[in-house]
Amino acid sequence: MKLELSMVVQGCRLGVLTGLGRAGQHSLEVPGCLLYTRCGTVPHLTQDTLHTLNNLPSVTQLTLNTLAEHQEVLEEFKEGVRKFAGLHDTVLYCSLHDPATSCPPGHITNKTVSVWGSGGRIELTVAKFMALQKAVQPDLYQSMADGETWQINTSRKRVRKSVDRTLAHLDECLLLHHKTQELSGVEVLGVVEGGDVLEERVRSARETAKRPVGGFCLDGLHTAAMETHLRTQLITAVIKELPEDKPRLLQGVGRPDEVLACVEAGVDLFESFFPFQVTERGCALTFPFNITTDPEAAVVELDKSEAAVGQKNGTDNPQEDQTKMTPFEINLKDNRYREDFSPLVEGCGCYCCRNHQRAYLHHLLVTNELLAGVLLMLHNTAHYYAFFTALRGALASDKLDHLKKRVLEGPGKGMSGEGDG
Ligand SMILES: [Zn+2]
Repeated sequence: MKLELSMVVQGCRLGVLTGLGRAGQHSLEVPGCLLYTRCGTVPHLTQDTLHTLNNLPSVTQLTLNTLAEHQEVLEEFKEGVRKFAGLHDTVLYCSLHDPATSCPPGHITNKTVSVWGSGGRIELTVAKFMALQKAVQPDLYQSMADGETWQINTSRKRVRKSVDRTLAHLDECLLLHHKTQELSGVEVLGVVEGGDVLEERVRSARETAKRPVGGFCLDGLHTAAMETHLRTQLITAVIKELPEDKPRLLQGVGRPDEVLACVEAGVDLFESFFPFQVTERGCALTFPFNITTDPEAAVVELDKSEAAVGQKNGTDNPQEDQTKMTPFEINLKDNRYREDFSPLVEGCGCYCCRNHQRAYLHHLLVTNELLAGVLLMLHNTAHYYAFFTALRGALASDKLDHLKKRVLEGPGKGMSGEGDG
């Protein structure tokens, strides 16, 4: 795995991660995101419906919490999750927790971490964790980590302990990793912890960078944990300690505004659970990111997204409920869409927007049809990936400020009913 940067614009790193996968045949552009799955499947979508989407990320995220309860089956199967789940040719990245759900705190010990599957809590020692990796056979995985320090008011002592434990877990994982033949050619991502304590964050990053890891996961900085400003500050400090040529994956951050701020702080990769959360609340992503439209079209587009903002709210409250609607989406259950015969987003090339209207989705949602989730997931996923493509395009053409304006002011302007053209 190798990160080749083509340019750094306002702190944003534009480049491509090459040599991914065991044969090194895959690549992923950064800034970018991973394909979100549960147990190897994108929620609501079959492999066929998923592949109606263009430009899917080449890396699929799996989470151990959904896989741990199937350890015996996978061990017996012997050929790894890729084949077991019938996945297309993709790079597999295995992380510990599902970013779309939070797990109950208070179950971490010096020797174990816990994950929650559908059957309840599963306690993992390093040995069990590594046995799982051997059964799952990912191409890269997140090292075992004590990430329980994100709550506000975590004591400094507890934060220090989490950094120490996470480093100890990493050393143990690496030791077992090198002894396991099945994991040769597989990359390990080291986890940077440290809660909201700057010195501990820096220490965690510095120490992790000394280990032979392929890249870094920045943990405990997710949306519910802290406000954007503090997160950016911590990331900036952490990144100074990390080598330039290894990727940095930020866990638990998915909102477009937060993504932009974190990319500017030097983050390369994100998990794409956000479009899934939007889908689950019956909403569709409509925020604008197209910076090539002519001014007249932009006004029309903004007028259309006027309805987009049901509840523009303060976005910096760290305790904000992640199930709450954001200004980047519209709620299709709302009665105003009952006779709205326009697509979710004009010009979107996804299956849903090409074939159906808002009114139809409204109908599917109010009658509780499963097809609503399928169509919304298709559109939201397509919209989200297109946003990342637009972000890379904006960086390459030195139009980042223009894009930021579109994304951040789009919804707000829509609300007041004014265009920016
Ligand atoms: Zn669409």
